[in-house]
Amino acid sequence: MTLRREETVSIPESDLEGVSVDTLAVRAGQVRTDQLEHGDAIFPTSSFVYGSAAQAAARFSGEEPGNIYSRFTNPTVQAFEARIAAMEGGERAVATASGMAAILSTCMALLKSGDHVICSRGVFGTTNVLFQKYLARFGVETSFVTLTDMAGWEAAIRPHTRLIFIETPSNPLCEVADMTALAALAKASDALFVVDNCFCTPVLQRPFEFGADIVIHSATKYLDGQGRCLGGVVIGSNKLMEEVYGFLRSAGPTLSPFNAWVFLKGLETLPIRMRAHCENALELAHWLEQQPGVTEVFYAGLSDHPQHELAKRQQSGFGGVLSFRVEGGKEGAWAFIDATRMISITANLGDVKTTITHPGTTTHGRLSPEDKALAGISDDLVRLSVGIESVADLKNDLNRGLAALAGLR
Ligand SMILES: *Cc1c(COP(=O)(O)O)cnc(C)c1O
Repeated sequence: MTLRREETVSIPESDLEGVSVDTLAVRAGQVRTDQLEHGDAIFPTSSFVYGSAAQAAARFSGEEPGNIYSRFTNPTVQAFEARIAAMEGGERAVATASGMAAILSTCMALLKSGDHVICSRGVFGTTNVLFQKYLARFGVETSFVTLTDMAGWEAAIRPHTRLIFIETPSNPLCEVADMTALAALAKASDALFVVDNCFCTPVLQRPFEFGADIVIHSATKYLDGQGRCLGGVVIGSNKLMEEVYGFLRSAGPTLSPFNAWVFLKGLETLPIRMRAHCENALELAHWLEQQPGVTEVFYAGLSDHPQHELAKRQQSGFGGVLSFRVEGGKEGAWAFIDATRMISITANLGDVKTTITHPGTTTHGRLSPEDKALAGISDDLVRLSVGIESVADLKNDLNRGLAALAGLR
């Protein structure tokens, strides 16, 4: 690879061919202006001007490429799109105002009334609401299947199944889907296979390598990683993304240039952050397994996890989220959470700060008791999104939770 030191130019895509995701995270997609800035420029503008009426006409007709209005394109947003597309290994990315806007735009662009969706059970709560409450009103019906139940996926297929939607690993139980098998099923059924890759990011898992048609992110989580901005992105073939882009341009949930700029900065440190998240989470998972009061730990990095081998094939790390069950039911779980001092009690995840959540009464609180049981959301379950603080300090704080459990005995 030769990195050119020419005048203005950004690094041509061909020069970045074959480089690792760590390098793409720092280098891909930057477009330098004639100021030769080293950092990424930010373009906080709603619209763009033209040299002449004829040029304006040419831009609007599509004869001449170029920016018109930031609901359509914006250079900072395009830089973020190019970088994340390169990292995932997809042809094109379309950025959105939030992760939910990414999921909605994908569905609105690619589904129509009468189509059927199969979604893994226990996906992000709002994703569930979007499918069950809103898309259902427009004649798109959704079936839910346990992520690891391959026979269940096959049985759920209907003639009009057009989309298979999963998150892997799952939230909060860290179950792992066999993406190759699901991609084959989708292909045989003429359905699109969509993976919400929010938990792993392209640093740990690249779903296109396992047959995904579309990859979605809530950039709000690890891509930012420091809890500053909301955003999302959809990645896939030029053909599919042209449809998603078309919807976005008409409906308007576009990403702001400021947020795109924050995400560009976030991506630069994503590889080293993800490695730190994984290292801390693995150590805490092993440690929690040995603690009295903790009855079960869910983390794909543990060798007794049912999909440990599959996770090793699909992921280069096991991620930053783990969950565990404690003695004492809901009372035990709440006492554990309330006894921690440093760790933040919040339902957010993917932050450099460690967060702790009781899924049963927050993120998954709207599920019916039956759905909770099917998704494995028990009252004694606690979820930890492990940050990058010192693992010794995290253990000290979690020890306060363990002491509270002992106090209940
Ligand atoms: C947070 C999250 C979303 C939604 O993203 P927003 O940016 O909050 O809209 C979607 N999927 C997963 C897995 C998430 O964790």
